[in-house]
Amino acid sequence: MRLDDVFLYLDGHFEEAIGDVVRLCRQPSISAQNVGMEETAKLVAAMLEEAGAKARLMPLPGGGPPVVYGELAGNSPTTLMLYNHYDVQPPEPLELWSSPPFEPTREGDILRARGVSDDKGDIAARLAAIKAFRAVRGSLPVSLKFCIEGAEEIGSPHLMEFAEKNKSLLKADCCIWEGGDVNWKGQPVIILGVKGILYVQLEAQSASRDVHSSKGATVPNAAWRLVWALASLKDSEENILIPGFRDTIRPLSPAELGAARDMPSEEEELKQSLGVKRFVRDVHGVDFRMRHLFEPTCTICGLVSGYTGPGAKTVLPSIAKAKIDFRLVPDQRPDDILAKLRSHLDKNGFQDIKIAQSVEGENPARTPLDSPFVSLVGDAARDVYKMEPVVVPTSAGTGPMFAFTDVLGLPVASSGVSYPDSRVHAPDENMRLSDFDKAIKHMAAIIERLGRQPGV
Ligand SMILES: [Zn+2]
Repeated sequence: MRLDDVFLYLDGHFEEAIGDVVRLCRQPSISAQNVGMEETAKLVAAMLEEAGAKARLMPLPGGGPPVVYGELAGNSPTTLMLYNHYDVQPPEPLELWSSPPFEPTREGDILRARGVSDDKGDIAARLAAIKAFRAVRGSLPVSLKFCIEGAEEIGSPHLMEFAEKNKSLLKADCCIWEGGDVNWKGQPVIILGVKGILYVQLEAQSASRDVHSSKGATVPNAAWRLVWALASLKDSEENILIPGFRDTIRPLSPAELGAARDMPSEEEELKQSLGVKRFVRDVHGVDFRMRHLFEPTCTICGLVSGYTGPGAKTVLPSIAKAKIDFRLVPDQRPDDILAKLRSHLDKNGFQDIKIAQSVEGENPARTPLDSPFVSLVGDAARDVYKMEPVVVPTSAGTGPMFAFTDVLGLPVASSGVSYPDSRVHAPDENMRLSDFDKAIKHMAAIIERLGRQPGV
């Protein structure tokens, strides 16, 4: 096999690669709490340099943790962009961890630490593959660029502006996305897109203060105002009722429909684990996957008003608040949906309901299934995992992929170290070392194939 020498080196140096993950995970980098960000950025830059890259910290246009940018020239001008993030989610609740979150702990095949799966294991996997090529062959078959941000877990504000401002610096041919996983059967899952998001708070205020509920016949109630406003957004058949909400949705390509059809079904497991009897609209099979992947959503994430403590308090609340997120699909845009939401509320008599955007919106993004880069990443996965990869047209989650697909014009596909029980964002986040080994080799195989197949 073409990569025998590189794989042999990797097998002999696996402990060093694990050492790199441990080094990264020992350094806390909690973007939501601004803990350890500068230190981690410097550590990542130093580790890129150790792997032979030129690295530097670049500020984001709106401030916040810097981007670690790196370059490593190879034998061909074909350039692969590696997007990752060095920040992690807060580790709380600490009492639910089996070992301290920032003291990486190894038990058999498991390495446990905050950020080990999302996304420090992926950073270390990229570095291990690169080091192996340089050690065995003296150089890389392709050129690499690194864009490793520190604000992914807080919604990547300003990353799109950063990409726009640095278009020529970030010029590349294709991009490997930050995270990737295998499913329960061990098949590598290759994800090609993300949904966008608009996150808002709706607020009703009916009086200047809460009053005795005996006044309920005459004084308006903020909780009812909000409930009526919310009820106008969606009917009981789950149709989103904001006029024009679906206007800009791009029709699905036959390939996208085919991919949703071919994906393995995991809905029964999900039903069991969540204890739900039926899904929305009673969907199952292909319809379940179609809705999950391709439908935009309108979700009430939280709802507060009045008194909800023990016993009774006869009070008429003056304020009610709801957090709502809309997951958006190509080519919906958060600003457009926000304007349509405002105008829908106004037209229905809810001019008094205030809307505040809780975090910056993100655009949806998708790489076409027929991109040659997607086949290349799939072929590389077949080489390493010895199993058929599952190509997923889009994740149902959100990330800053638009900056790469649409601003920089790159095809994007995922590769990574996770598995379904990685407990990303939760206590006991972990990575299986066997998955780490495969993710490193997948990265090496992608680099090797790109060197042979310029122009993807
Ligand atoms: Zn995450």
